[in-house]
Amino acid sequence: MTENGWSRSCEDFQARLPDLVGSRRGISLHPHLLTCAKCSALLLDLQTIADAAKELLPIEQPKEGLWERIDLAIREQRE
Ligand SMILES: [Zn+2]
Repeated sequence: MTENGWSRSCEDFQARLPDLVGSRRGISLHPHLLTCAKCSALLLDLQTIADAAKELLPIEQPKEGLWERIDLAIREQRE
């Protein structure tokens, strides 16, 4: 059974998503995205949220609060 390693890989990737989206350093090239449609969709959602948040908060970006909320959203989807 490879299910264990597979889900652990998703978990590991999703744990790093806020950082990856924040830095935008070649996240679309991340190897996990090539093999996991679920995380690709999740990344798209996150980028949409991040872009929307930037438009809503043009002056100050409460980065920590924002990523906390995104992190929470990820956890809710995971469970
Ligand atoms: Zn995945």
